[in-house]
Amino acid sequence: MKKIAIFGSTGSIGRNTLEIISSLEGFSVVALSGNYHLELLQAQAWQFRPRWIIATDKERAQAYSWDLPSGTELLMGSKCLEYVAQAPEVDMVVSAIVGRAGLESTVAAVLAGKRIALANKESLVIGGQIVTKLAHKTHSQIIPVDSEHSAIFQALQAGRRTELRRVILTASGGAFRDLEENQLRNVTLEAALNHPTWEMGAKVTLDSATLMNKALEIIEARWLFDLHSEEISVMIHPQSVVHSMVEFQDGSVISQMSPPDMRLPIQYALTYPQRLPGGPARRMDWEKDQKMEFFAPDFSSPRYEALQLGLHVARQGGSAGVVLNAANELAVEAFRRGKMRFDQMVPFVRDILYHHDFLPDPSLEDLIALDEDIRRTYKSK
Ligand code: MG
Repeated sequence: MKKIAIFGSTGSIGRNTLEIISSLEGFSVVALSGNYHLELLQAQAWQFRPRWIIATDKERAQAYSWDLPSGTELLMGSKCLEYVAQAPEVDMVVSAIVGRAGLESTVAAVLAGKRIALANKESLVIGGQIVTKLAHKTHSQIIPVDSEHSAIFQALQAGRRTELRRVILTASGGAFRDLEENQLRNVTLEAALNHPTWEMGAKVTLDSATLMNKALEIIEARWLFDLHSEEISVMIHPQSVVHSMVEFQDGSVISQMSPPDMRLPIQYALTYPQRLPGGPARRMDWEKDQKMEFFAPDFSSPRYEALQLGLHVARQGGSAGVVLNAANELAVEAFRRGKMRFDQMVPFVRDILYHHDFLPDPSLEDLIALDEDIRRTYKSK
């Protein structure tokens, strides 16, 4: 039995993870955590009977009237994630909290040498340098859940690191690939939340629409696979079937394909190095004609500016990632509240990124302080 803690179990990745665990043998749920959706968290506790549930928002948790199965202990506050991540009862942590909030619990799991199924890309965007160095030291294995990185992780197994030429991240191009640039000004929240191929949570769907998600993924790939920024390229692939590719020195390109369904990369992260039969993910239907297109993004177009920012951060390292991420979280929040136009989001991030006082070798404490500082300084704007 693999004993699993799922941080962010009420979100899209968390719910999919539980669906997979229910359909496979060999996994037991030791801990679940949620922030807003306490009713769902409680329902999950009744279904999976974990040792712990963690309600990370203390105030909200105290105001809720809980009814939990015996044998499930309620912990309140996000500090408790760190305690559970390090508990000997946990073999593997599914890090599925969205955004900056996932950082400390991921670091705690790395420190404890746990295996991590990583969906929280922001912890690598913010602290990639530190997190990967720590993981090396503690032998914590970080298995990507992000579909592109899962594809690269799988394709890399076809050759040696020294034989690698580059990785090619695919991008659907988001919901507004075919809009004229001047139409991006009037994009509504509702339209931006409607992704053409993937069903995901709100934050990542909005990031996909601005292509900031691909910027975060460039940085995530940089740290996860120890790549130089010149070894990372992006291709627009509207069908979202080829989840990414690896090109080797001899010119061979290895890709991983499957329908756009997060349940497969989640399942692979749980079962790696095995591939188990079954599981709920959709499969390729080869009875049907398949059309797959690839376009190189036009880097001179403002539409693809986010990709430039991602490559810039991958090149710079240091404090660039935390700044990009904090600015982006502010932009997404402002857009959701109707305080910022769609076409203002990426320029907002760019201006903050290019004007901050760059730290080449920050500590985790420096990064956390800088994150708070950026949020404080730019929140009202
Ligand atoms: Mg992705």
